[in-house]
Amino acid sequence: MPVPSACFPRIIWSFAREPGECRALIIGHRMLPFKLIYSDDYFLPIGSHVFPAEKYKLTHDYLLARKVADASDFVAPRPATDDDILLVHTPQYVQKLKTGTLSAREELEMEVPYSPELVRAFWLAAGGSMLAADYALNDGVAISIGGGFHHAFPDHGEGFCMINDIAVAIRRMQADEKIRTAMTIDCDVHQGNGTAVIFAPAPVPGNRLGSIPNLAEMARSRKPSDVFTISLHQENNYPAFKPPSSLDLNLPDGMGDGDYLACLGTAISLGLEKFPRPELICYVAGADPYRDDQLGGLSLTIEGLKERDSLVFRLAKAEGIPVMVTFAGGYAHRLEDTITIHSNTVVAAKEVYGGK
Ligand SMILES: [Zn+2]
Repeated sequence: MPVPSACFPRIIWSFAREPGECRALIIGHRMLPFKLIYSDDYFLPIGSHVFPAEKYKLTHDYLLARKVADASDFVAPRPATDDDILLVHTPQYVQKLKTGTLSAREELEMEVPYSPELVRAFWLAAGGSMLAADYALNDGVAISIGGGFHHAFPDHGEGFCMINDIAVAIRRMQADEKIRTAMTIDCDVHQGNGTAVIFAPAPVPGNRLGSIPNLAEMARSRKPSDVFTISLHQENNYPAFKPPSSLDLNLPDGMGDGDYLACLGTAISLGLEKFPRPELICYVAGADPYRDDQLGGLSLTIEGLKERDSLVFRLAKAEGIPVMVTFAGGYAHRLEDTITIHSNTVVAAKEVYGGK
């Protein structure tokens, strides 16, 4: 159970060279009023791959080296339990993952090579997002240096994503009655298709099975979801079929900082108008809207991406809504750019929420 953050040093006693002399050493001083959730085991064992699996550790190391954070600002997660995962994913899919019985087609669709070790890494990512959500409710904000696997559906994985850690975290918080409602703000360059489907409004029970309702009838027969999903993404990009989020912004190729930030501000205002006072925001801070990304076609700069993060934090803070952050994609030609973009998300949070 998280405890509220406080800026206090960790103190150990050490004995000086002279016998009998002892002194207190301050060995670590928390720099942040919020937690960073991280484990070396976030690493995804996927071999040589366009997804830079080492980015989590490199971001962790960068934050320490640049003194953005101290070691005591990081908290290690525990893996999600199977019961947590089953809040979102089907028993059949979970069984296949645990027994290594995905079909060749299912593994191909996931676009990462199956292994039991990879399953463990995704269970840990889900545990990390659950912990980040929990800490966010206490501290106002928390960042998992990982997660954001928004292309995972209840019954299958896609686009490097096996388990939808964002959805697992939300459903766990709801099941524990810590929140009733949540909003996702997905700023990865690719649409959050898995998240959109998971939180799509459910058909009202009793709707005639086998009937093909027209759109108006469908709208009437659906009850509002308890999770409002916003996705800002490049239209001409994966996934080809984009199931509707609560609010989708299909952005044109090459959009730059100014237009993007204007769209984001509008999307969040509109979202909060339609779905007021969500009890948690899950911000998916993908690094791939960057102009030099291998899998993206937007044109944001590193500075623009940091401004994007600041905008989300400022608006959430002004509304008093806790924010849980995950990292999602990032495929810059220069790996160090991806690391800078992800690290800047922590820097932006530090600037908005305070810290030393
Ligand atoms: Zn992406």
